[in-house]
Amino acid sequence: MTIRIGHGYDLHRCTVGRPFILGGVDIPFEKGLLGHSDADCLLHAITDAILGGAALPDIGRLFPDTDEAYRGADSALFLKEAQAKADEKGYRIGNIDATVICQRPKLAPHIDTIRARIAEILSLSVDQVNVKAKTAEGLGDIGRGEAVECHAVCLLFAH
Ligand code: MG
Repeated sequence: MTIRIGHGYDLHRCTVGRPFILGGVDIPFEKGLLGHSDADCLLHAITDAILGGAALPDIGRLFPDTDEAYRGADSALFLKEAQAKADEKGYRIGNIDATVICQRPKLAPHIDTIRARIAEILSLSVDQVNVKAKTAEGLGDIGRGEAVECHAVCLLFAH
């Protein structure tokens, strides 16, 4: 059986006047993530992990931030499209593991909701989707709450 691994990374600035949407969940907070789409840093990292594992063009090439069609877009659409493209190449998702580095808001109360939402978007079991949250220990841009960073890996199986 062929097994492939994909890795994804993303970072978005935090700013006032934007919703804080992470992992497809709208989290109440005084600031939000800045970006052309809904700026869902976690879904973008997972999207790139899936695309990377299938050796497909990355999220920035498939959904350019210069394309007005993607202004304010729901990043769940990017994630689903990545899964569909991987499926076309003969790969299905084994599991996803992701880490979010975010000083504020506290993500622990939202992790189960985020995992369930990602599993729902991808029609996976919650057991196939893991999300961990860490702070930056107050250090650097992320520690000052100026940005959120996400890392993701994804296993793909040939079907
Ligand atoms: Mg992004």
